[in-house]
Amino acid sequence: MAGGLQLSAAIADARLMRRARGRGAIFTLHHVRPHVARAFEPNRHLEVTPEFLSVAIRQLASDGYEFVPLADVAERLAMPAARPFAAFTLDDAYRNNAEHALPVFAAHGVPFTVFVAQGFAERTHSLWWETLALILGRAREISFDFGAGVETLSLRSVLEKLSGFERFVPFVTCGPDEAAAIARIDALARQHGIDPLALTAELTMAPDDLRALAAHPLASLGAHTVSHRAISRLPPQEARLEIQQSAGYLEDLTGKRPVAIAYPYGTSQAICARDQTAAAELGLTVGVTTRPGTLQAEDLNRLTALPRISLNGYFQRARYVSALASGIPFRLGR
Ligand SMILES: [Zn+2]
Repeated sequence: MAGGLQLSAAIADARLMRRARGRGAIFTLHHVRPHVARAFEPNRHLEVTPEFLSVAIRQLASDGYEFVPLADVAERLAMPAARPFAAFTLDDAYRNNAEHALPVFAAHGVPFTVFVAQGFAERTHSLWWETLALILGRAREISFDFGAGVETLSLRSVLEKLSGFERFVPFVTCGPDEAAAIARIDALARQHGIDPLALTAELTMAPDDLRALAAHPLASLGAHTVSHRAISRLPPQEARLEIQQSAGYLEDLTGKRPVAIAYPYGTSQAICARDQTAAAELGLTVGVTTRPGTLQAEDLNRLTALPRISLNGYFQRARYVSALASGIPFRLGR
């Protein structure tokens, strides 16, 4: 990816960008906070600094982008002669979105949508990738049964901790029962003196915080399911309930019915046509994935499965933002 981005930055500099970039782009963020360097940062890609967010916005503005709310994407896609547009989204509703991202968006007058998982807001569900980062960061070894009997993993070096983390990713995302896998990680956390739901409360916004954020004229809230599992792998009725309940939750909380959903993980394995149809039937007119790409006119035909561009903690340079928005890296990758 880094090589592709360097090359894309060069191509973007060669002013081929305008032709390749399509009509616009939706950007994905997670944490926005000052970076505290640690040796073991398995979730580093999910974090950018407020300064970089500001740089990214300035770069897009100087590249000619107009900033629009996510709810306006359909209308903008249908306007071929308009300036290219950019919409900002933030997944999981971390506290730092209000603390550090909101002031940057407000300073630039940029609208944004925060996707809320009901189970995080209500402190009934944990963020397994955050729980694991904490367990593996602290422990020198753990014992865990990934399905072939209890194993002991040594976690004495950063490399061992990273490879430990990599063992858990398929355990959660490819196993037969994601809720059971997360419950096992929560139990492991408790064995190591970590309360996974206290971590949820520390990291993500509570109902009052969300209500306050939703009152800001630049902010919108969007649905992100209840349990934050890959809904494509759930039975149809359960998947539908995840969408329906989380949208209803935000409506009850803020008095505004959300128009958008971000599917947890957002990969082609984590969502399917069934869920896109369910979202549309439940009145959600915009659905966003993590499939990388810019927006083209044909995306009008798949408004509940739009691609997004992740602003990644490893690539915090203005020229990378231009390169990503150009759409060229995604074409090179094909
Ligand atoms: Zn998420």
